Amino acid sequence: LSAPTSDFVRDEIRVDNVSGTYGGRVQTRFPPEPNGHLHIGHAKAICVDFGVAADFEGECNLRLDDTNPDTENVEYVDSIKADIAWLGYEPTSTLFASDYFEQLYDWAELLIGKGLAYVDEQDGDTISAQRGGYGKPGIESPFRDRPVEENLTEFRKMRAGEYPDASRVLRAKIDMQHENMQLRDPIMYRIRRSNHHRTGDTWCIYPTYDWAHGQSDAIEGVTHSLCTLEFGSNRPLYDWYLAQLPLERTAPKQREFARLELTHTITSKRRLMQLVAEGVVDGWDDPRMPTISGLRRRGYPAAAIREFCSYIGLTRTNSRHDIELLESFVRRHLNLTSQRRMAVLRPLKVVITNWPTDEAGAPVVEHFEVVNNPENAEDGTRSVPFTGELWIEQDDFAEVPPPKFFRLSPGREVRLRGAYLVTCTDVVKDEDGNVVEVHVEMDPESRGGTAPDGRKVKSTMHWVSAAHALDAQVALYDRLFSAQVPGERTGDAMDDLDRDSRELLTSAKVEPALADTQPGEVVQFERLGYFAHDPRTPMLFHRTVGLRDEWAN
Ligand code: ATP
Ligand code: MG
Ligand code: MG
Repeated sequence: LSAPTSDFVRDEIRVDNVSGTYGGRVQTRFPPEPNGHLHIGHAKAICVDFGVAADFEGECNLRLDDTNPDTENVEYVDSIKADIAWLGYEPTSTLFASDYFEQLYDWAELLIGKGLAYVDEQDGDTISAQRGGYGKPGIESPFRDRPVEENLTEFRKMRAGEYPDASRVLRAKIDMQHENMQLRDPIMYRIRRSNHHRTGDTWCIYPTYDWAHGQSDAIEGVTHSLCTLEFGSNRPLYDWYLAQLPLERTAPKQREFARLELTHTITSKRRLMQLVAEGVVDGWDDPRMPTISGLRRRGYPAAAIREFCSYIGLTRTNSRHDIELLESFVRRHLNLTSQRRMAVLRPLKVVITNWPTDEAGAPVVEHFEVVNNPENAEDGTRSVPFTGELWIEQDDFAEVPPPKFFRLSPGREVRLRGAYLVTCTDVVKDEDGNVVEVHVEMDPESRGGTAPDGRKVKSTMHWVSAAHALDAQVALYDRLFSAQVPGERTGDAMDDLDRDSRELLTSAKVEPALADTQPGEVVQFERLGYFAHDPRTPMLFHRTVGLRDEWAN
């Protein structure tokens, strides 16, 4: 799977570079609002913004679009920075829209001076209602034709804090009959007494998204302002504002690309916030969350996310990609990089009845040299202890084997991976008739897992020496949203939420080498999948993905 080398954005930049629109300069920005944690959708935008700039040896800044103090805070700013760094990108600079408040204010006065903005004293509902709709005429505000001087005085009073919150707005004076609602005298400023995480109480008026965004782009020298398709109808307003201002450089241009949506996944900050607030998940970095921090904790390699984003590329039609495709990138990376280990998630004791003892009467301990990663010889081998008592998976034994069950059952011979061939001779049951121990005999001639007579066995099973096993907890995950398209059935994604999407196994037994696994490291548990060592809780492992590729093209 390789990435497309060309798309409508890169093509247009090539044209701009040839015609010299921006003097050959390419500058993009990633402009999150610090009101939540970044998610997989943002990862796509990050890959687009930073990736495009890198392809043209341009610059990409991180700009915190911090114009709405009610919902923003420093914790989000910090997590956004950390997530971008983890994804492997380094902003040329980290900038804040709030640093432009003074310039934006001055430009607003300039628009007022040109007769292109006015202070409206109507309430928000009235203004919305008067905006009309598609095919429905707009109604002009009675304040629309205020003289310039009066608008200036009123706007200055707004800034000076002489009016209560929400009692007035500054609006651009464009066209109340425009077919694009965004141009029906959009709001530029609101009065809002709210403490800003950077400017404190300096301001009681705050610019709207539209008034801040393009102007911030222009101040920074952005050339190509890339955003998602839903901003398409804002583009004429973006251009209109810039056209009114005395810019020193060619105005930036906004171009829109498709949002990333995934099956079984929601990417609305508000909804993700709800999952955290209601305790459905264990915080923003719960391994089931589509947040960057959740994916990181789940064990997704940053490189796999980047490759997935570049593979799906930049298009202009919204579509939902299969989560299995993303997982398939993750699996391919982990297959190359992760160390193989043996772990038993639901242990069942196996006793080798003919296991030898040493002179002192203690069971012999053997050590097998096992390859750490067949995909990478440099990862070397490790020594795995083996004794007469072992743990195997409960699933790998059946007292009465169902059809096509070839693993251990009475009378059946199997291979204990890399060790010996063993045949089940007996079982021990508890009072309720459950098998609690399986007795086997080993073939001492089969050391390494092959019999000298070349006889075949159908199954190879993983195991952990009981005397050497470490205890571990393992979390298995289902889809957080069981429906492919959460909310499609009822209109509410929460109706498709699977509140039992985590199964925590608390009595797993793992081989001793796992004591050296680093926080956050991902290993392959043989036959079971890829598992990420929790960054905070030692010996807690999260299943990243299973081994089988479920992506059907
Ligand atoms: P939400 O709508 O969930 O609150 P947002 O779009 O408001 O998120 P921002 O912080 O404003 O989040 O987004 C920063 C950038 O990320 C924007 O350019 C936006 O277009 C882009 N972005 C957000 N969600 C996605 C997505 N699902 N796919 C691609 N890009 C996205
Ligand atoms: Mg936003
Ligand atoms: Mg949004």
